[in-house]
Amino acid sequence: MADQPSPAPDFPTQARVVVIGGGAVGTSVAYHLTKRGWNDVVLLERKQLTSGTTWHAAGLVGQLRATYNLSMLAKYATEMYADLEQMTGMSAGFRRVGSILLATNEGRWEEVKRGASMARLCGFEVDVISGKRAAELFPYLDPSGVIGAAYLPGDGVGSPTDATMAVARAARMGGAKIFEYTKVLGVNEKDGSVVGVSTERGDIACDYVVNCTGMWARELAAQNDVTIPNHATEHFYVITEPIEGIDPNLPVLRSPDDTTYIRVDAGKLMVGFFEPGAKPWATHGIPEDAEFLKLAADWEHLTPFLDRAAKRVPILQDIGYQLHFNGPESFTPDVRYALGEAPGHRGYFVAAGFNSVGFASSGGAGKAVADWIVDGRAPMDLWDVDIRRFMPWQRNRRYLHDRVSESLGLLYDMHWPFRQFETSRGLRRSPLHDRLVARNAAFGEVAGWERANWYAPEGVEPRYEYSYGRQNWFPYSAEEHRATRENVAIFDQTSFGKILVQGRDAERVLNRVSTADMAVEPGRIVYTQWCNDRGGVEADLTVTRLAEDRYVVVTTGTQTVRDMDWLQRQIPADAHVTIADVTSGEVVLGVMGPRSRELLSSISDADFSNEAFPFGTARQVDIGMAFVRAARITYVGELGWELYVPTEFAAYVYDEVVKAGEAFGLRHAGYHALNSLRMEKAYRHWGHDMSDEESLLEAGLSFTAAWDKPGGFIGREALLKQKEAGIHQRLAVVVLDDPEPLLYHNEPIWRDGKIVGRTTSAMFGHTVGRAVALGYVRRDDGPINGEWLKAGKYEVEVATERFGATLSFSAPYDPKNTRIRA
Ligand SMILES: Cc1cc2nc3c(=O)[nH]c(=O)nc-3n(C[C@H](O)[C@H](O)[C@H](O)COP(=O)(O)OP(=O)(O)OC[C@H]3O[C@@H](n4cnc5c(N)ncnc54)[C@H](O)[C@@H]3O)c2cc1C
Repeated sequence: MADQPSPAPDFPTQARVVVIGGGAVGTSVAYHLTKRGWNDVVLLERKQLTSGTTWHAAGLVGQLRATYNLSMLAKYATEMYADLEQMTGMSAGFRRVGSILLATNEGRWEEVKRGASMARLCGFEVDVISGKRAAELFPYLDPSGVIGAAYLPGDGVGSPTDATMAVARAARMGGAKIFEYTKVLGVNEKDGSVVGVSTERGDIACDYVVNCTGMWARELAAQNDVTIPNHATEHFYVITEPIEGIDPNLPVLRSPDDTTYIRVDAGKLMVGFFEPGAKPWATHGIPEDAEFLKLAADWEHLTPFLDRAAKRVPILQDIGYQLHFNGPESFTPDVRYALGEAPGHRGYFVAAGFNSVGFASSGGAGKAVADWIVDGRAPMDLWDVDIRRFMPWQRNRRYLHDRVSESLGLLYDMHWPFRQFETSRGLRRSPLHDRLVARNAAFGEVAGWERANWYAPEGVEPRYEYSYGRQNWFPYSAEEHRATRENVAIFDQTSFGKILVQGRDAERVLNRVSTADMAVEPGRIVYTQWCNDRGGVEADLTVTRLAEDRYVVVTTGTQTVRDMDWLQRQIPADAHVTIADVTSGEVVLGVMGPRSRELLSSISDADFSNEAFPFGTARQVDIGMAFVRAARITYVGELGWELYVPTEFAAYVYDEVVKAGEAFGLRHAGYHALNSLRMEKAYRHWGHDMSDEESLLEAGLSFTAAWDKPGGFIGREALLKQKEAGIHQRLAVVVLDDPEPLLYHNEPIWRDGKIVGRTTSAMFGHTVGRAVALGYVRRDDGPINGEWLKAGKYEVEVATERFGATLSFSAPYDPKNTRIRA
């Protein structure tokens, strides 16, 4: 090997950053830190560089990933390898041979074309081609049964070992010290901050660690109570006998319907699999001596998938196999990796759990983490892979074991809109769950919560039938939507995260963090954002003042860990404030619609009139024999109340509302209806329509800012500067002219024949009768404003076809909010 274990005498006792793990990812983090001028970096590897998962990666570098930003990170790798060779004289073996993505059924064809549209958005070269053309590019393909394909000439293949060794050399050239055969025994922390690591060779004091230990990451992190929910899974490829005359530059062929990819590898074909029903490995711990692991072959498991591949590429029927390779790779519950600083652990960074795209992603992920450490913030919106999306319960071994058996296959399975996980379900249930089951709810999972997405009518099974078109639940959800607009509906919104903030400095702290004014009377609900010092939106929430010294912050289930972490970081050491996650203490029942007032009045002595109970207030009311906190607020754009019910009273209160609701035609409604209703009101959703990257002004939310409140708020100065200079991108509401096509997100937005942005979330609006989306549009030649928006002619690209659209900065439904204030 080019890099031998370093002798012990120069082993450091101090470093600024210790990177743990010498695979594709760890070396990339070290290299990018040195590139940023941080050369006091030590990388520790328990065995040899590349000896974990990296050495046996198939070397595919595909740029198109699930989202725009992840695709941009993957794209970076292809650029990085060219530079590296020049810099180090070592080749990463990277060749831009291109790739072909096949579709052999109509659903996949739609998916491939939608993917091609996103590729265009990312600036990738992409051609939508016929099966015949695909067979010209990859002559071993039998094109019969192929409907079409996307061809991405910029994709490539590389040598993971060579590339990692080249990156390691570049890191060393930048000043990093690399030590092999040096196992990190533990990360040392003091008062919530990293202070060093203990290793087999001694301790190193440091300010930052980066856990890049691949499938070992969960166990190492758990020692410090850091959650990295990944689990090893067996992952297979086979390599054929040599094929005479094979062209080494054939593109990579991906046939997801056959769960297969095929590439040329040193005169042979390598055939890899992302099969359903994968095999979790080493559930009870990875063997201590694991190094350059090869797991046992399993032809029985693989044969059905190999047979399918051989039908598509018939040469595989006639040729023998030289190698059956089975190696472990780590997968996560949502098939996305984990990046960033662990919540509650200053200086503990993570880059792990790469779900079989770790070689392709290592360049971008390494750069992102290095930038994150040096700049103290993520370089772009990385919420899709942010470590803070995970919750502590997710590192449960049994949960992960079952889930990762599904995760691996999902890479190539259909990525249907609204697709739900099938494994590890039923974990977090509202106390009303069984009642909603009895109502024929179809559940989806978010943050482990089982949430009613839609309700099937009597006699219909509450089961999804997926497609890219109108799915089976479309008409039922439409009725739920209409019931909310015209009458009254009940939503179980218990998965909301609830954070209690209390102490005599609660107002002062929240006021500094929030854009809106928190110095309000108890009983007021305030809609606000939390911004960073660049004005980017870190959180989007409602805050209710319960008492002088007590507030409850309500956020979405997925953001609770992140929002708690953000808030905790902003609390000055001398402030008298504590925060606690009280999510489990209350059930949330949304009673929404024009008849909600009548309904609630029929079971309560409280006065729900506009005068007594105005919009944006909360108070304790009786419901039957119980007391609840009723909050007059809405995410659907109608008159309505959210009832915050102590958990043990939930079943009783629900029964009371539902019984009384019979007289008002109360309907149960789910999250798909909620989404359709909120889109028509242009209510943003953090993580889609806003992020730390887009500013409050760009998100169109400057109305929440109390610019002149005493003490200001984080981000105020940056936002005022932006206000003066003008902004160049802005969130707009997009309504398609044609009622037929459906939008999801990441669709390109065209203005006068040029791509100017992309949709960030979308749903069919049943009142508007068309697909409605939110999306950012960009103007480079001047500040963006209403006039500019109006002057353009817009189209949205759906599966490579363009459809006319109308864009506006205001909601298509009730823009003056008359209904919610009725
Ligand atoms: C069969 C197969 C095919 C694949 N094909 C592709 C592909 O085509 N394209 C692609 O992008 N990806 C592919 N992958 C995935 C890719 O190999 C991984 O995602 C990637 O290598 C992960 O890199 P890493 O640096 O995170 O992990 P690793 O390479 O596993 O590195 C982690 C390192 O940490 C070390 N370590 C662990 N604990 C400690 C400790 N306590 N102290 C010090 N060191 C420690 C380990 O020894 C190990 O070397 C494939 C994987 C498999 C199994």
